[in-house]
Amino acid sequence: MNLAQFPRVHLAHLPTPLEFMPRLTEALGGPDIWIKRDDCTGLSTGGNKTRKLEFLMAEARDQGADIVLTQGATQSNHARQTAAAAAKLGMDCHILLEDRTGYNHENYKYNGNVLLDVLHGASIEHRGPDLDMNAEMEDVADKMRADGRNAYTIPGGGSNATGALGYVNCALEMLNQFVTTSLKVDHIVHATGSAGTQAGLVTGLKATNANIPLLGIGVRAPKLKQEENVYNLAVKTAEKLGCPGVVAPEDVVANTDYVGPGYGIPAADTLEAIDIFARTEAILLDPVYSAKGAAGLIDLIRKGQFKKGETVVFLHTGGAIGLTGYTHEFDVAAKA
Ligand SMILES: *Cc1c(COP(=O)(O)O)cnc(C)c1O
Repeated sequence: MNLAQFPRVHLAHLPTPLEFMPRLTEALGGPDIWIKRDDCTGLSTGGNKTRKLEFLMAEARDQGADIVLTQGATQSNHARQTAAAAAKLGMDCHILLEDRTGYNHENYKYNGNVLLDVLHGASIEHRGPDLDMNAEMEDVADKMRADGRNAYTIPGGGSNATGALGYVNCALEMLNQFVTTSLKVDHIVHATGSAGTQAGLVTGLKATNANIPLLGIGVRAPKLKQEENVYNLAVKTAEKLGCPGVVAPEDVVANTDYVGPGYGIPAADTLEAIDIFARTEAILLDPVYSAKGAAGLIDLIRKGQFKKGETVVFLHTGGAIGLTGYTHEFDVAAKA
């Protein structure tokens, strides 16, 4: 496996820190909990999409693209990081935003990631729920091409085999940090959505024979669907890397018990996770992804699935800027 063979633009601050969380570890009374800070990738408030965009934007640049298109939910972290990457590389960016939650709050519609999309100069159009958003985007891109634009499309979440290379790279980065820190890791846990993060990680971990189980905590799809999406993308990623067959179906494990009322809608345990991380470690989680992942981590520790004496690494995938789109969830006026 040789990641250096793929074109890449350097957008992220790497390596992101790997840190122990002593107060959270003590509060939960279970395994030692470490955090991999991919919320600190640096591009326009950071997050996991920046690693994928290093490979995706290089492909766009090499194809001579003058505009990149992508799609996501209203408060998409991926759309915001794409808008930022395009600005940095001097390309136009066009975003299709799907109203996936039905929220009508001013902050949800215009603050958080949406504010940053606008600041980075992206153009935005909206769609209702339950459409094939990648197909909608391709239609828009075809119209632009007919008008003479060289348009490069990025699927939702940047989750194709090119984007997943960013998380193969993260797996290698983490393994190296585990060696230099002399850390024997028993589990890696993170939020999984459009599947690219988990697919890249599992491919990297299996291709290096790391022997560390990976658990994705789902934010949308049911378990079997999520595992199928991750597995299918991992297969393609391994083929692209020249190591076909390294990932077996049983290597891909998702737990989707923490989705709550649905994508983008926090449950009580989502909000509790935000509270616990903020008060014990001053770590900001987001209500759509990382806090659902953390809610799973916390519950599985309470249930004894992750035990004292073990070491768990929580991969923080970012998104905290989205908190400002969710002020309605936090009863701020009563407390401030
Ligand atoms: C997109 C995203 C995820 C999920 O990553 P996928 O590669 O889409 O599975 C997790 N956390 C945050 C903050 C995200 O923006």
